[in-house]
Amino acid sequence: MGLKFDNCFIRELPADPITENYRRQVQGACYSLVQPTGVVQPKLIAYAQEVAELLDLSPEVCESKEFEQVFAGNQLSPGMESYATCYGGHQFGNWAGQLGDGRAINLGEILNQRGERWALQLKGAGPTPYSRTADGLAVLRSSIREFLCSEAMVHLGVPTTRALSLILTGELVERDMFYDGNSKMEPGAVVCRVAPSFTRFGSFQILAALQNTELLKQMADYTIRTDFPHLGEPSSSVYLTWFDEVCRKTAEMIAHWMRVGFVHGVMNTDNMSILGLTIDYGPYGWLEAYDPNWTPNTTDAGGRRYRFGNQSGIAHWNLAQLAHAILPLIGELEPLQQILNQYPSYFDESWLSMLANKLGLRALDEKADDRLITELFMILQFIETDMTIFFRQLSTLDVHNASLDDMANETLIAPLMDAYYVPEQLTEENMTRIAQWLRDYCRRASHDGTAWDERRVQMNGVNPKYVLRNYLAQLAIDQAEDGDDSLVNKLLDVLRHPYDEKPDQEDFAAKRPEWARNRPGCSMLSCSS
Ligand code: AMP
Ligand code: MG
Repeated sequence: MGLKFDNCFIRELPADPITENYRRQVQGACYSLVQPTGVVQPKLIAYAQEVAELLDLSPEVCESKEFEQVFAGNQLSPGMESYATCYGGHQFGNWAGQLGDGRAINLGEILNQRGERWALQLKGAGPTPYSRTADGLAVLRSSIREFLCSEAMVHLGVPTTRALSLILTGELVERDMFYDGNSKMEPGAVVCRVAPSFTRFGSFQILAALQNTELLKQMADYTIRTDFPHLGEPSSSVYLTWFDEVCRKTAEMIAHWMRVGFVHGVMNTDNMSILGLTIDYGPYGWLEAYDPNWTPNTTDAGGRRYRFGNQSGIAHWNLAQLAHAILPLIGELEPLQQILNQYPSYFDESWLSMLANKLGLRALDEKADDRLITELFMILQFIETDMTIFFRQLSTLDVHNASLDDMANETLIAPLMDAYYVPEQLTEENMTRIAQWLRDYCRRASHDGTAWDERRVQMNGVNPKYVLRNYLAQLAIDQAEDGDDSLVNKLLDVLRHPYDEKPDQEDFAAKRPEWARNRPGCSMLSCSS
């Protein structure tokens, strides 16, 4: 296949001495060698050509039988060495001990022609020593969701792991989707994920929990040298600058999620990438009506720990767990605590600058613009308002119009009408409140002085026209489960250019239809995947 492997992770870090594949607690090692199980009848459903290009793979190779075999886990290409990594994590706020790659099998790292390092990982290719009580497999629906969303995110400009391929296994997998005793046989699939590194906060936490400071240091030094080489040789002060960078990257990632209306759904510390990449697409969802309290994850419905509006706070909490884990490397809490205290300002800075772009303003001042911002989020949630359409349409307002005060509320709001889910909620009183905000906003934007077309380009570059709406993903799943993968490929294509207007693709920008309001898979998801 021509992939050039350089498997640094397993070369530099210690392996579990046991090579048999049975569930166990692993100590003194960062990974266990394990082979993918192999499947009866692999069938390629889709591949991302941009990711193939990163790996220097041609379309001919991606459409070959060999590709299907390798990325379903039936054979290893020369240079591949397969292994599962060990990590721990806090799940829903509680320390869960060893977790690890229970259904992910790494194939190694390649160096591409540009000299970039990319790690390859199969998800759903069979059990590993870290599978605990589960089967190591993945079903088609969750694999489609992971494949499409990782690629959608990258084109939206959100830091994320990538997905190379989506392959049906030809085997059935048993899942009880809502943990209610109604299990079903579902088609199995394997996704090949690609990232510079899959290291998680939990990769350090497990070593700290096992009080293996020596290995913790080895893992941290390896990560700094490989994933943060610009920081220089590891030392006490470099550990701190490293932690600071992790805080900044995480803040930036969350600000992007808030910008595009993404809810991760399971922000456990094992699902937090050390590189600030969105990782582990499970019961995630996209905001339809703007609602900071919304969580797509039914498993989280009680506490709503991972609701949209709580994501930055949770990231902060997760970073505190990481700080705690690397404390033995630094010896004193104070400098780590100081960096951790900076996190809210890192987030605010990223978010305010993104919000300014969303509104087509040069900058926002937290104090001077407080009223404008607060009222914006009030009018977004006091009646059901599609976040994506609202911001996208905002760029069409003529903010320099001199007769704003004389304009009827209806005329002013007209460009936004498509964002509203429930027409009856548009009472005169509510319209007056929205129109008032629009007038304030127009005055503020006009005062900024940016020309109309320039402002529009600025806004349309950060307010997507197309996102992977929950119901769209579900439609693609329904069809693929019936053997038709065309919508999966169509969505992959539409989501390549999320900021471009495409008149023939208007359907994909439509707000959630009523049938999808309470449909499982659209508004309700579980961790079962
Ligand atoms: P999650 O929070 O969904 O990313 O997964 C938590 C832990 O459960 C991780 O260690 C996963 O590898 C593991 N896991 C999830 N699903 C499976 C599965 N079907 N088989 C084995 N391990 C799994
Ligand atoms: Mg996970």
